[in-house]
Amino acid sequence: MKHYKTMTGAVQAAAKLCAGWLVLESGEYIEADAAAYLARVTDRLDHEDDAADEIYYLTSDEGAVGVTSKYEYLAQWILIPLERPMAEIEADIEKELQARQQQAPTAPAQGTPAFCPYCGFKQQPGAKFCPDCGRQF
Ligand SMILES: [Zn+2]
Repeated sequence: MKHYKTMTGAVQAAAKLCAGWLVLESGEYIEADAAAYLARVTDRLDHEDDAADEIYYLTSDEGAVGVTSKYEYLAQWILIPLERPMAEIEADIEKELQARQQQAPTAPAQGTPAFCPYCGFKQQPGAKFCPDCGRQF
């Protein structure tokens, strides 16, 4: 893990390690641009805070971004890294759902067969008996 004095520094480093993040608190997806903005706002608030001297930001090897005091075991993770862009992950989920729907057993065919299964006579939609051989469907 690497430490940074500002969240901006941590986000810039983390952006090289992953394809975006989920915000831990809300579970929302956040891209590099939005994360950089969030970091700038956070850094400004930290700067106005007297305790800023004891705040550090850190990045994990996977690109997670956290905040900690001088006591590292109190680290809180803010951004959880994604290995791939959210759009790709969502597209894969959509594909998986479609594949499962196609695999789902379909209801048995209902209604009148196009041709009588007994004599092969062409049938009219809605017929219950073959007009040629008289057998029931
Ligand atoms: Zn028939």
